[in-house]
Formats: sequence, C-alpha cells, structure tokens
Amino acid sequence: MLVACSKRIEKQYIAIQPYVGLKDYLIDSISKAVKETYGYDVIVFEKIKPPANAFIHSKTPRYRADTLIRELRKSLPDSIRLILGVTPKDISFTKRDAHGNIKKPESRYADWGIFGLGFCPGKSCIVSTFRLSTNHPEFYNRLKKVAIHEIGHNLGLTHCPDEQCVMTDAAEKISTIDNVKLSLCDTCKDLIY
Ligand SMILES: [Zn+2]
Ligand SMILES: [Zn+2]
Repeated sequence: MLVACSKRIEKQYIAIQPYVGLKDYLIDSISKAVKETYGYDVIVFEKIKPPANAFIHSKTPRYRADTLIRELRKSLPDSIRLILGVTPKDISFTKRDAHGNIKKPESRYADWGIFGLGFCPGKSCIVSTFRLSTNHPEFYNRLKKVAIHEIGHNLGLTHCPDEQCVMTDAAEKISTIDNVKLSLCDTCKDLIY
C-alpha cells in the first residue's frame, strides 16, 4: 500500500523580540530593513524584561549576550526561522582567542561590551542600542546594520573580506560599522539566497 506522505512546508518568519525600554519606532525601522534584506516577513513580539540570569555587574551593569540568545531560542515554534532580540541595555560577552582562553588583558575582555551577537548558524541573535550613540546622525543606520549583520550569522554567513559588506567584522570599532553599506555583497547574497 502506498501511503501518501505530504510534508507541509510552513511559511517561516523572522521574529523581533524587543526588551522593555526600547522605543517602538526603532522596531519599525529594523523590521523594514530585515524584510528588505532577507525577504522574510517579520513578526514583532510583546516587549519582555531581560532574564535575571543574564545580568552581570563586573564593571558596569550589563546583560550577558550569550545568555540572552540562549534564552531567546528556547521554545521557538517551527514557524520562526530565527529571533532577533533588541535591547536598550548594555550587553557583553567574553572574548576568547583561538585556543579558547580569555583574550588578554583578561580584565578588559572577560566582560567585553558589544554591539550585537549571533551564533553562526543559529536561531537567535541580539543587538543593543547602548553603544551606538543614540543621538548620533548615523544611529538608525548603525542599529539596522548590526541587526542585519547578526541575522546574517544566524543564516550561516561568516565574516566577509569585502570591507563594504555588512558582514565585515566590526573589529571592535564603531567606525567600521559606519563604513559598511546597509546590504550584503553579491558573494554573501549568493550564499544565502
Ligand atoms: Zn560578526
Ligand atoms: Zn559579503
């Protein structure tokens, strides 16, 4: 007997998870950039408080980015390809060398403030407005670029040698972000489309 086996292919979305304190108009502007760049429809979730287990106060109050993205990807429905967290709070990460040891000096890199983080590949990523200078004329573009960059990592893109591509390594500098275009280079596009 032949059994018809039809696997339903569900439409997938990119979800945005704003955290309390984030301005709504920023979510709109990120949603548009995400849809234009990756072609996914975007779902915006209700704002939440960041999980208490991500909080750290070693130098200044921050939230651990790796904990936030682990929490974000928990219990995601199949209809969500990936989820992007957006927070006004400072986020941090431990920067390690090729051997997995904390980069020297440890006092600087054990809890290193960052713009965003996304596993590659992965189902969740996070961006923070905290280090993007909210009053700077490039602020909106910076935020969109970091969001597009971290989503690119989730979709499997690694850092790109094209210095104008949004997937270039920001190399700890805001000026690198200002110098890239708000788009993927042709090579990166070919890798994901
Ligand atoms: Zn990156
Ligand atoms: Zn590229």
